[in-house]
Amino acid sequence: MIRSPDDFEPSLELSLHDDALAYVFTGDALVLAEREPRALPWRHYRMLGIEAVRVHSIGRHQGRDHVAVSLDASDAGELTLPPGLRAAGLRQWFGELNDTDLSIAMRAIQLLEWDRTHRFCGACGARTEHMPGERARRCSSCAMSTYPRIAPAMMVMVTRGRQMLMGRGLHFPRGRYSALAGFVEAGETIEQAVVREVREEVGIEICDLRYFGSQSWPFPHSLMIAFRAEWAGGEIRIDPNELADAQWFDPEALPGIPPRLSIARALIDATLAELSGFSSR
Ligand SMILES: [Zn+2]
Repeated sequence: MIRSPDDFEPSLELSLHDDALAYVFTGDALVLAEREPRALPWRHYRMLGIEAVRVHSIGRHQGRDHVAVSLDASDAGELTLPPGLRAAGLRQWFGELNDTDLSIAMRAIQLLEWDRTHRFCGACGARTEHMPGERARRCSSCAMSTYPRIAPAMMVMVTRGRQMLMGRGLHFPRGRYSALAGFVEAGETIEQAVVREVREEVGIEICDLRYFGSQSWPFPHSLMIAFRAEWAGGEIRIDPNELADAQWFDPEALPGIPPRLSIARALIDATLAELSGFSSR
């Protein structure tokens, strides 16, 4: 499961300088050195002739400034990168980039994307400007403020005896199943969202809801909040608008599951560990 280091200090104050570790994006693709993908000081990019178009301070970690950089003007076409650099979506860097750099890149892309999509006021359409001292943009005309969006979503692993409930989303990779998940609706608690989503997606009632953990998930701006729960009643009846399939799986006969670094995988692994002490009946 990926999370930024606990001693990472967010900051609004940092500027782009040669020694700052730069998280450079074109569109939603992270630009790294092809040979050795890791966060590099801005100097490396600058010396290759790369020009920053938008810059956001992220924060400090282990004495280094970390800064998000976008290479794109608002309506620029596709960028040609100098040799030695490679641009790829964040998910494609999973397993190549170390976890700390990846977790900070996940902060960077959310800030850049929020900034890019809030240049104009949602109420009156006038331009917005950065508010000094806050991670916010304010409308130059009606003064409405916007902050980086975070959309809470729930995930739950429901068990019945030794069996684990997993579903296949409509757009999952072939053969992949995972814990059920869904977004929290306006006015709902996270616990209510879990009960509702499970009921809606598979027609099952749950009990013994227990918090598992949470993970920031920048695709595009979720906070995934994960739970364990027990089956309380009902048989699987999927909502075909939400799921392609759902089944109870024995721990010994699991389908394809999400890769390392996702909270879904951490939740599945923790449930498997819990069930290993559970005698089969
Ligand atoms: Zn406005």
